[in-house]
Amino acid sequence: MAIQLFVPTFDVDACLENIRLCLEKGWTGMGYMTVQFEDKWKEYTGLPHAYFLNSATAGLNLAVEIFKEKYGWAAGDEIITTPLTFVSTNHAILLSNLQPVFADVDDTLCLDPASVEERITEKTRAVMFVGMGGNAGHLDKIVEICKKRSLKLILDAAHMAGTRINGETAGKEADVIVYSFQAVKNLPTGDSGMICFKDADCDAVARKKAWLGINKDTYARSVNANGAYKWKYDVEYVGYKYNGNAVMAAIALAQLPHLDKDNAYRRQLAEWYAEGFKPYPDKIKLVEVPENCESSRHLFQIIVEDRDGLMAYLNEHEIYPGVHYVDNTQYRMYSYAKGTCPKAAYVSDHVISLPMHLRLTREDVQTVIRCVVDYVTK
Ligand SMILES: *Cc1c(COP(=O)(O)O)cnc(C)c1O
Repeated sequence: MAIQLFVPTFDVDACLENIRLCLEKGWTGMGYMTVQFEDKWKEYTGLPHAYFLNSATAGLNLAVEIFKEKYGWAAGDEIITTPLTFVSTNHAILLSNLQPVFADVDDTLCLDPASVEERITEKTRAVMFVGMGGNAGHLDKIVEICKKRSLKLILDAAHMAGTRINGETAGKEADVIVYSFQAVKNLPTGDSGMICFKDADCDAVARKKAWLGINKDTYARSVNANGAYKWKYDVEYVGYKYNGNAVMAAIALAQLPHLDKDNAYRRQLAEWYAEGFKPYPDKIKLVEVPENCESSRHLFQIIVEDRDGLMAYLNEHEIYPGVHYVDNTQYRMYSYAKGTCPKAAYVSDHVISLPMHLRLTREDVQTVIRCVVDYVTK
């Protein structure tokens, strides 16, 4: 049987039960279960604010735009970011007419704090940090740098649902955290995400911007029990249609109680992989996870000499890994920065993400290990 990279697993009965409630109530849009899920997420993470969106991409776009306006950043001001990510991360910066400045990664595949410090100029306004594969990397050092240099910290936590540092939600010091609940992430829905601002005003602005800039508060007091004057609202911004809906929240609510045990099993899979590769440190390089980080283990990545050869070999054996990610400076949009991050460029050519999902058995992991070891030692 083929072994896939990602296979989402749902609590089907609990999902269907929640979706049934939405359908019976006749409420599938924004509100109802979206509000319930926001409350549960705040409880789970301990974060002060949470707004449910249709994707993490939407959240990243909002985060950058809202900070730019709030803090009066100018077009061309800089955000230091990683080249090793999904393009949503860096597109968010360009979409706000700001300049992505790429810093290099370290052995955690997250931003290297030393490289970030080197890239700070007087135009730097923020750091965008990606918790690669659920790894918090040296986020604690980045938090210090941002404090010292008065930079905003935006955390792309698309992989980090459930990641903890010293037992607490990773990145709680960040000015904003954006989570993804896309189909193959650790808390899968279909497509959705969450934006968690530290600041209440930013949260309020996000709620308006995510819904075409509409402000219902102005007339909220005049809405009577019959819902009259619902159409009477003000429009404060040119906004987007970024809000999440109750059907996605219904799935998220059903999945959230499983997140910690799911992540614990992912860490078990990672341990089995690491154990199997331990005898081959020269051929198979593992990604460093700091001692104090309990990773969500969205990914299990290794670095090998002949990645493309290994990929083809695994495919021949019906094992289908992935690559996270191609160095973004290899894309036309970001090619101005090509050659500025040698470590990320190397990783981009040598990294491979091995199958990591809840349906994998210990035998499956052994099969993958055997196949990888066969290839790299032959
Ligand atoms: C998946 C992902 C995103 C985008 O999430 P969506 O919810 O699909 O928009 C952003 N950044 C990273 C690192 C991701 O892996």
